[in-house]
Amino acid sequence: MAWDFETDPEFQKQLDWVEQFVKLEVEPLEHVLGSPWDIHDPRFEKLVRPLQREVKARKLWACHLGPHLGGQGYGQSKLALLNEILGGAHFAPIVFGCQAPDTGNAEILAHYGTPEQKKRYLEPLLNNEIVSCFAMTEPQGGADPKVFTTRAVQDGKDWVISGEKWFASNARYAEFYIVMAVTDPEAKPYHRMSMFVVPAQTKGIKIIRNVGLADEPVPVHGYLEFDQVRVPAENMLGKQGEAFAVAQTRLGGGRVHHAMRTIGQARKAFDMLCQRALSRTTQGELLSAKQMVQEKITDSWLQLEQFRLIVLRTAWRIDKYNDYMKVRKDISAVKVLMPKVLHDIATRALEVHGSLGVSMEMPFMDQIVLSHHMGLADGPTEVHKVTVAKQILRDYQPAKGMFPDYHRPALVEAARKKYEGLI
Ligand SMILES: Cc1cc2nc3c(=O)[nH]c(=O)nc-3n(C[C@H](O)[C@H](O)[C@H](O)COP(=O)(O)OP(=O)(O)OC[C@H]3O[C@@H](n4cnc5c(N)ncnc54)[C@H](O)[C@@H]3O)c2cc1C
Repeated sequence: MAWDFETDPEFQKQLDWVEQFVKLEVEPLEHVLGSPWDIHDPRFEKLVRPLQREVKARKLWACHLGPHLGGQGYGQSKLALLNEILGGAHFAPIVFGCQAPDTGNAEILAHYGTPEQKKRYLEPLLNNEIVSCFAMTEPQGGADPKVFTTRAVQDGKDWVISGEKWFASNARYAEFYIVMAVTDPEAKPYHRMSMFVVPAQTKGIKIIRNVGLADEPVPVHGYLEFDQVRVPAENMLGKQGEAFAVAQTRLGGGRVHHAMRTIGQARKAFDMLCQRALSRTTQGELLSAKQMVQEKITDSWLQLEQFRLIVLRTAWRIDKYNDYMKVRKDISAVKVLMPKVLHDIATRALEVHGSLGVSMEMPFMDQIVLSHHMGLADGPTEVHKVTVAKQILRDYQPAKGMFPDYHRPALVEAARKKYEGLI
């Protein structure tokens, strides 16, 4: 069969279980707990750990990983179907052992860590005994890593790191940070930096403050200072000057996993939009009878379905090629679509809920903030649009002459020549 939109029936059974489990056991957690990364909160032990054990027993733990790392090796297509369910509940990724940024950091450690580092950081990370942080962005710029100035200088067998990092999510809960720092300032821009694993307790690390999103009750995005932070040479991950290549190990997967989860958030907003449209009356009729509300429903459904299909196709292409560079365009494309789809659907859902929609009693404002989060984290939309366009243009050539190749007079002349003698 050339095209198949069916889910494998055996896997569908798993998905059905996940859907119920997330709805009944996981969704309520976000109403009583704080951050999912605050794993040392005693309530986490009581409420989250038993659920994680259940997930492990059902062999659904860390499904993003291959079996060599304790995952199921499902591949990205199945993961997409799972993640779109998990995306609807704030605690679901941590309950299923596939939460960012730990997933990406685990991938870096799996690829580049020494056996000791794998034992010390990777194993407990995969078991969610610890959580981690990725510190790349700097206060003076994030979209253009060429402006980063955090410096690592070699001193005997150590590297000494100094500088500032910005918006390092979950730094306050992390056991270690993966830090990008300039090691070769004279090298070409993309070979100036190296990646390090840095234990959070190392002397010289200070959280200047934790920055919150909008009115987030507990701010978790760390503004960090590194003052002469000393790490041994083996803490460099990958080769010297190769930080960009190392970062790509995490960013490709990370972006597409965010997109999979965003389907779940957008679907939640869509379901609320539909329920409200069928429940609220104005001027003597249901909102669902108003054509402009119907338009909101149709536009939202179309956006959601189109987005879902392109995410699933991207997942399928990752499985097919097993090479993120070959699917760069697809990943950047879903990265570009993701914030807009969530933003538009959450906004329409907010609108049909009126004053209730804009209030703190509904999730729409949070979803709209999340849409902006998705538009910025792992690179802003504009940068990914540039990537998509550049990748597309690789398949095109400039016109051979002054006029376009498809200039109608030339096409007519060529057609006449082709059929000469016949017409
Ligand atoms: C919720 C959240 C969590 C994050 N978590 C992390 C984390 O854990 N670790 C980490 O290192 N970073 C993290 N970031 C930072 C994120 O990677 C940066 O915000 C992002 O790379 C943009 O950098 P910036 O904020 O400095 O914006 P700037 O680089 O100042 O860019 C500002 C704006 O300029 C525009 N722009 C930028 N480049 C171009 C271009 N080429 N063409 C046209 N317009 C352009 C875009 O509108 C962009 O939003 C997080 C960000 C958010 C919002």
